Amino acid sequence: MYMIGLTGGIGSGKSTVAEMLRAHGLPVVDADQIARDIMEPGSPVLDDVAAVFGADLIGSDGALDRAGLAARAFVSEEQTQKLNAITHPAIRAESARRFSQLERAGEKAAVYDMPLLIELGLNKDMDLTVVVDVDADERVRRLVAHRGLDENDARNRIERQIPDAQRRAAADEILDNNGTLADLERQVEALVDQITNILLGV
Ligand code: ATP
Repeated sequence: MYMIGLTGGIGSGKSTVAEMLRAHGLPVVDADQIARDIMEPGSPVLDDVAAVFGADLIGSDGALDRAGLAARAFVSEEQTQKLNAITHPAIRAESARRFSQLERAGEKAAVYDMPLLIELGLNKDMDLTVVVDVDADERVRRLVAHRGLDENDARNRIERQIPDAQRRAAADEILDNNGTLADLERQVEALVDQITNILLGV
């Protein structure tokens, strides 16, 4: 199966592009969704979270206190690494399971919508790495307007990520999302044509 990695900085438009690709018939595995799914009540990941960060984070209904976990895990790099050591392998395993399922269902190509694709070196496993690129100022504007983030918070989050130049350098294809959604859709259509031609061996 032909693997298309889709990534970009916070607020760049990954989810928007993923929806457009879905509308063109490409299946998408969404790493953010998986990150939420593996924390659902009853998931074995929760046992590991409880063992490391405290059993009191799991309520009597089995649900995780996400804010409580964030308060304990994001206090230092060391604690964050401990959480990543639990969640990242689980996300990788569940992603692999979903890709196998798609392959067994006869899909010829699939998209991996993964914010940390390049940071985790997973772009090496992709046949095509697509980066959604938007100037930082415009991303801040969109995060403030559509996500209700405070401007400083949006800037801090952008600054904590890898530099855009590093992401662009790892890209096989760059989608410029500084323009309108119609501009983006045109680029997505061209990308879909390119993928279709690759699959047809053109
Ligand atoms: P995150 O990193 O938070 O998961 P993302 O990269 O998935 O974000 P989106 O959620 O797709 O980004 O887009 C961020 C916001 O910007 C959304 O509210 C989206 O509707 C809006 N947006 C995306 N592209 C455009 C565009 N070309 N013009 C205007 N708004 C846009």
